[in-house]
Amino acid sequence: RGAQPDPQLFATEEVPKERVHVLLPMPVGDGYDYVLTAGMTAPPGSFVIVPLGPREMVGVVWPEPTDPDLPERKLKPVSEVIDAPPLSADVMAFVDWVANYTISPRGTVLRLVMRSGQQLSPPKPQTGYIRAEVPDSLRMTSAREKVLDMTSETPLTAAELAREAGVSDGVVRGLAEAGGLQAIEIDPDPPFGAPDPDRKGRALSPLQAEAAEHLTAAVREERYSAWVIDGVTGSGKTEVYLEAIAETLRLRPSTQICILLPEIALTLPFLKRIEERFGAAAAHWHSDVSSAERRRVWRRVAEGQARLVVGARSALFLPYTDLALIVVDEEHEAAYKQHDGVLYQGRDMAVARGALGNFPVLLVSATPSLETLANVEEGRYGLVSLPSRFGPATLPDTDIVDMRAHPPEKGRWLSPKVIEAVNETLGRQEQVLLYLNRRGYAPVTLCRKCGERMTAPHSDTWLVEHRYSNRLVCHHTGYSIPKPDHCPHCGAADSLTPCGPGVERIAEEAKETWPDAKIEILSSDMLMGPGAAKSLLKRMTEGEIDILVATQAAAKGHNFPNLTLVAAVDADLGLAGGDLRAAERTFQTLSQVSGRAGRAAKKGRVLLQSYQPENPVIAALARGDRDGFAEAELEGRAALGFPPYGRLAAVILSGENEQKLNEVARALAGVVPHAEGVEVWGPAPAPLYRLRGTYRLRFLVKTTRRVSIQSVLDEWLSRIKIPASIRKTVDVDPYTF
Ligand code: ADP
Repeated sequence: RGAQPDPQLFATEEVPKERVHVLLPMPVGDGYDYVLTAGMTAPPGSFVIVPLGPREMVGVVWPEPTDPDLPERKLKPVSEVIDAPPLSADVMAFVDWVANYTISPRGTVLRLVMRSGQQLSPPKPQTGYIRAEVPDSLRMTSAREKVLDMTSETPLTAAELAREAGVSDGVVRGLAEAGGLQAIEIDPDPPFGAPDPDRKGRALSPLQAEAAEHLTAAVREERYSAWVIDGVTGSGKTEVYLEAIAETLRLRPSTQICILLPEIALTLPFLKRIEERFGAAAAHWHSDVSSAERRRVWRRVAEGQARLVVGARSALFLPYTDLALIVVDEEHEAAYKQHDGVLYQGRDMAVARGALGNFPVLLVSATPSLETLANVEEGRYGLVSLPSRFGPATLPDTDIVDMRAHPPEKGRWLSPKVIEAVNETLGRQEQVLLYLNRRGYAPVTLCRKCGERMTAPHSDTWLVEHRYSNRLVCHHTGYSIPKPDHCPHCGAADSLTPCGPGVERIAEEAKETWPDAKIEILSSDMLMGPGAAKSLLKRMTEGEIDILVATQAAAKGHNFPNLTLVAAVDADLGLAGGDLRAAERTFQTLSQVSGRAGRAAKKGRVLLQSYQPENPVIAALARGDRDGFAEAELEGRAALGFPPYGRLAAVILSGENEQKLNEVARALAGVVPHAEGVEVWGPAPAPLYRLRGTYRLRFLVKTTRRVSIQSVLDEWLSRIKIPASIRKTVDVDPYTF
């Protein structure tokens, strides 16, 4: 009998292929199953390219079981496993958590992680030039000489060399071809310098040292805890948390630290301070960072190479490999709340990230949010206090200027009391900050003939006059027009009148009152870019400006040693309006601006112009009674069951068809949940009811803390099918309420 082939050899039953569940960065909650082809390995967290309909997309292998009931022939194969470090389990757990908390599709949250990391494989190396042995035969020109002067052992690209030498790229290339430069390959994403925790920091005061000891001990425990560093402006909070960062760097060579700031484009002095302390620049992450630099940061963080990151709230979503500490500086700031896409509160997500990753989180502020104070009171967060300024500096004296008793001249905004104080300050050759949190020249433009208020088209938003650019600008929609000379409504000539003051108008008044003083405006729209702002802040720091007229852009983190007088032009601004957070916010911003005065050896003074000095916010500011204010506010919130003593969410419905919108809102109102501990109000017009032709209605949902507000919302909102023409936005923990 001849040898028979083993029938098993040709068995049709194949070994089943390995399956993976892939989450894609698009607005869906679930991923899709794919199969890996022979030779592919893709553990959870791997970046993969997969087919989706006619396209291919980059997604992430999610740590989730695949569906065993799907037959293999229905599954498409993964096209490619990208050669990049996989996402850590922490980062993926964080995506799931944020999606669940904010009621957002998981894919949308994953997009926050992947954004700017789209190009995941290392980019091609570039050519850089370093100094070479210059051949005798080289023909020298003055341009070539300039280039040679700029070369060193550190490689620079042709463009960089040309820029530094002030010559064209062609000169550099010509020189290289003639053998005057040596070409080498450089990584376009140079690694970040290694921070050294043991460089000598500043000697801490006994109070600071004690605070630092609590925090370094927490770091050494290597588990989750949340801490509040509560200290007056200038007490050295930064100095103290730098010690916690140093201790975290010492834990392991792989630890990473994320420092969040509300506004980082203008915080050059802060970045310098980090660099001085650790001998290496931190990676920066915010909207002004170039796309090439973003790619570098993203990649270096994903590799675990970048250990120190300073960024805006979005830095929470970087692909850290061993995140071991988050610092949230100015934790009370509104800027931590994201207002589009995934509506998250960065401070709260930072705490969640620490809990998921099992490491400490530090919240830093001179005026902590009421949420944070309640968390301290209830024992969830530890507290470290720094009640006095560092060194000889003392807190400024604060006085109210009662504008009813000391009104400004007609058509003016500064009270004689403030003018007198400015005179005295300038007489001592010290600096003044006039604070008004209103950009432009005037907040409202009115026609004197017909009374028409200028608004943005199809919106309920006012047009604000900007003299600097001679335009009317809408601060909500970005719409702007050259200032018309006729009223667009009644046609009257030269009848458009500015009403109320903005910073430009205060600067105009200041220039008339103090013609010899050097006066500058600092407001986000006056800047030709962060470069101009930085130079303005530098001049202010060096005492070259006498009077700075500024919006909140100047409130944060700057030390102007010769600034001794801060006057708030309209301290009442922000107190009006139905927003329950108005008092808290006004107190915080005014405290912060006040904190700019007298930071160094000279005593500071703060004047608050107010038409309602008896208002609890203004009165508490004048008394310097932060705790009393917070206590009273917290009591009020508790009585109403509002955050932090209850949960709140806003549901905003918007659409272009007002009638349809009303119908949908009525339908939803008809099925509101009636459950213990749940209240639903609305629908009512949302703040900015009409925006760019879209109408907006809002429901507010309030629950007790025992209720899962997410489940309540899920259940309620799924009862009605909302048509595609109506957009539904759910905002858990809305900033305004
Ligand atoms: P905060 O963050 O509380 O506003 P900072 O950490 O910015 O305070 O400190 C305020 C000022 O005091 C800064 O100019 C800082 O350099 C200085 N300072 C604070 N602590 C020290 C210290 N231990 N030694 C020297 N200077 C200090």
